[in-house]
Amino acid sequence: MRKHTKESLDQLTPQRAYEILVEGNQRFVSNLNKDHDHLETINETRDGQYPFAVILSCMDSRTSVELIFDQGLGDLFSIRVAGNIVNEDILGSIEYAVKYVGSKLLVVLGHTSCGAVNSAVKGVQDGHITGLLNRIQPSISRAKLKRDQECKHGDKVVYANVENSLQEVISRSPIVNEMFSNGQIGLVGAVYNVENGSVDFFKDLT
Ligand SMILES: [Zn+2]
Repeated sequence: MRKHTKESLDQLTPQRAYEILVEGNQRFVSNLNKDHDHLETINETRDGQYPFAVILSCMDSRTSVELIFDQGLGDLFSIRVAGNIVNEDILGSIEYAVKYVGSKLLVVLGHTSCGAVNSAVKGVQDGHITGLLNRIQPSISRAKLKRDQECKHGDKVVYANVENSLQEVISRSPIVNEMFSNGQIGLVGAVYNVENGSVDFFKDLT
């Protein structure tokens, strides 16, 4: 697969960026991954990077975005933190990706059976973990209001937590908000299922 150039990235629509991820996950679950020649990719990307999407996801070892979307080096900005929460530095990273590099899509990606979310539900408190889990607390009350998803309580919070992070980005980052309102970037929320490898793109803000 040819890597993007600045020109091709400029012309890519948010919708097409989204489709590339959907198609990549379909290849992943079908075990039809492309043959990623890493050495060739190193050569192709040595002079710069033009990742078409930025993905905020959990640190969980089962959810590496390059693998689950069947992408290679240089294709994705990957921001990972337990519970895919948002803070100032993460907002700065997202703003850099969309405004200064030109990524066309922001995905907040949670996953089922998330240890961070389940620990927040249990009220775990210890060291710096407490502050991190506090950021998930609003999603626990939010999940109580949700009746539409047939899943375990913890996974309901996972969905609510993705929505919460998306809302945080929109409300706290004027840069993202403006680019989104102008149609320059797309914003989607998704949940990866650790039992079968599929990604449920459940929230499309476009
Ligand atoms: Zn997790």
